[in-house]
Amino acid sequence: MYDAKQLGKNRIAFAANVGSQGATQDAYSRVKAAFESGEIVLHFQPILDLRSHEVVGFEALARWHHPIKGVLGPEHFIDVITQSSLSLPFGRWLIDQAGRVARHFRNAGHRVMIAVNLSQDQIETGAFIEALSTARAKYALDDPFLVAEVLESTQFHDMELASNLLQEARGLGAKIALDDFGTGISSITYASQLPLNTIKIDRMATRHVEVRQDRQQFISGIIHMGHAMQRRVLAEGIETQTQLETLTAMGCDLGQGFHIGKPMAEAALFARYLADGPPHGFLLKH
Ligand code: C2E
Ligand code: MG
Ligand code: MG
Ligand code: MG
Repeated sequence: MYDAKQLGKNRIAFAANVGSQGATQDAYSRVKAAFESGEIVLHFQPILDLRSHEVVGFEALARWHHPIKGVLGPEHFIDVITQSSLSLPFGRWLIDQAGRVARHFRNAGHRVMIAVNLSQDQIETGAFIEALSTARAKYALDDPFLVAEVLESTQFHDMELASNLLQEARGLGAKIALDDFGTGISSITYASQLPLNTIKIDRMATRHVEVRQDRQQFISGIIHMGHAMQRRVLAEGIETQTQLETLTAMGCDLGQGFHIGKPMAEAALFARYLADGPPHGFLLKH
């Protein structure tokens, strides 16, 4: 049975834990201050439709614009956020930002989706659904604008509850993607029990796909399984033109990776995709 109080207790337990360990409490205070002062921002990486060669969306990836250390990746702070009381406020902010950016693109005539990475408690508490309906109203988004990415490694306390909540989000126009597929131990169970629109193949599986037959067979299997389940399949970590072509030929639907575009700050994103005006900004340029 789902128990919000228990989840709450776990978070408080973590806060108590960090309180007893100087370094961790320190990290928490620094990350909290960074979040509250706006030093934590989102960068956006394009997602390409491999058939039409159009950019159909962007994944929002957290960065810490540190005043001294420069730009820090999520490995430096995201666990501190998602395992503390910052998790729910951060999740609400994340979805608000996604709505704001989606609205900006729509004002220029582009119906792109913004993908966000959600943590377990942001989903299980239902906080993301509240944030989703708030953002829909605030930014007048009545068409789908959000992709909720769920890590394959997420161990939900109650699979049925998680599944129902994700279904509810779909009713509000969100799409659901399973992230880092192929790295966990519960892949097939997950893919069949959750109401998914998209399966994202982890970039470790995409590596060397153009030369390794075993990788091709593995990915080909995922593509067939995904399509049999009416799901779209996205390959992460596309770094070369040959990989792009190989995965396209294999029937992969969507692609993401440095070869298509690196994650970029918001100003660079708008300059790159909106300055040209439609439709040129949305076709992949080499
Ligand atoms: P992810 O969701 O699987 O995001 C993809 C990661 O792969 C990103 O790393 C991206 O920069 C990187 N990447 C994309 N294309 C390529 C490529 O062609 N080659 C290589 N080598 N790497 C590529 P990043 O931004 O460091 O994020 C790492 C992870 O941190 C993300 O993995 C995601 O799980 C987590 N994360 C990021 N932002 C958030 C957030 O706002 N909330 C939560 N809960 N997790 C986040
Ligand atoms: Mg992701
Ligand atoms: Mg991933
Ligand atoms: Mg990842």
